[in-house]
Amino acid sequence: MSANHSVPVWSSLPSFIAASPTPFHAVQAVSTALAAAGFQAFSERDAWDLSPGMTGFVQRNHSALIAFRIGQSCEPGRGGFSLIGAHTDSPALKLKLRGSQHQAGTLRIPVEVYGSSIDSTWLDRPLGIAGRIWALDHPDEKPLLVDSRQAMAVIPNLAIHLNSSINEGFAYNRQQHLAALFGDCKLEDLLQALLGRKAPASLDELSDELYLYVNEAPQWVGLQGDLLSAPRLDNLASCQAALCALLAASPGEATQVLFLADNEEVGSVSAQGANSSFLRDILWRLTPGTPQSEENLLRHLSASWMLSADAAHALHPSYPDTHDPSYSPVINRGVVVKNHASLRYASNAISQGRLLRLCRQAGIAMQFFTSRSDKPCGSTIGPTCSAHLGIPAVDLGIPVWAMHSCRETAGRRDLDSLTAVFTAFWSADQ
Ligand code: ZN
Repeated sequence: MSANHSVPVWSSLPSFIAASPTPFHAVQAVSTALAAAGFQAFSERDAWDLSPGMTGFVQRNHSALIAFRIGQSCEPGRGGFSLIGAHTDSPALKLKLRGSQHQAGTLRIPVEVYGSSIDSTWLDRPLGIAGRIWALDHPDEKPLLVDSRQAMAVIPNLAIHLNSSINEGFAYNRQQHLAALFGDCKLEDLLQALLGRKAPASLDELSDELYLYVNEAPQWVGLQGDLLSAPRLDNLASCQAALCALLAASPGEATQVLFLADNEEVGSVSAQGANSSFLRDILWRLTPGTPQSEENLLRHLSASWMLSADAAHALHPSYPDTHDPSYSPVINRGVVVKNHASLRYASNAISQGRLLRLCRQAGIAMQFFTSRSDKPCGSTIGPTCSAHLGIPAVDLGIPVWAMHSCRETAGRRDLDSLTAVFTAFWSADQ
């Protein structure tokens, strides 16, 4: 990942995605980039001593992160927080190690589905394993971040000769049909390969969060290479665009805050999700004024607003009836502002108006999405953060095809547009 303002976001996104098979790895990659750019690592355990212009970051659960650049204003209520939020997690298959069995000449491990995945996309692909393991037999050892890097498993379909009606639609049973097959090996050998040392003799000596991921590199598609086919574009593309914008930004009156939340795909209720104390806890520490107080935070929040970045549904030309024809974003035509009457998105006339004015001044074209009136709508972290903090927010994002497939498709030009929006946002008060 590059901190160089002259390097377009799209050029470094594939390597960021490849380095981030799980939220833990994404936060590690972002932390490394921030530290390399001089951002100081903070811990929630310590007392913080901050000053205007200072840059830093803090992580929670190693899967969510808040980075900041303190504003030049030392007065509560002046400048406020300029917040950008995105999420680090994506739908995935979590291994259930205790269900491991050797059957039909192969190690078979059942999985649990994390988030709303399109299950069928995970079949017949080379899959790696990544996550974290805590081997309890070594008292001094800490949870270890692991990534097999090489393909370790596959979830094969049944041959069409044995399921001749599969093309008429087939519902995969998640307990039975999504189990991963690892070839003729033992579970302890697999764990040893991940740990880099002899694995504990019993699973009771192990605590784990291990996920399968698609072990196929992101790929540029098309004559002009203007499409990116990659895993986890939702929402690592937003994370990376916001990070690049933050690294390139200059100090302003407002405190710039980047919130990368975990667990959006499962409802955000966790210590490190958008529906947690994390963001508010850290904003309290970032509030100017001596001594810090709840009132100072409230005054500063009243001058704050937020961009909530997450993927948007691009119009799929083979399914034109799935979109409202007047709200049908197209790939490579720009960033999408998302609205919903029942507030599944946080955008309203004021927050959206501020964004549109900002983009107009910066010469950035926007597209609009509202779901068909006869279809349900997804959601994201914007409404939750807006409600917790009591600040206006607007939901936006790049248009993608096949959201929640294990490989999604986005447009190269949209990635640059998203970074341009973030850059304009954090430059607004300079
Ligand atoms: Zn998302």
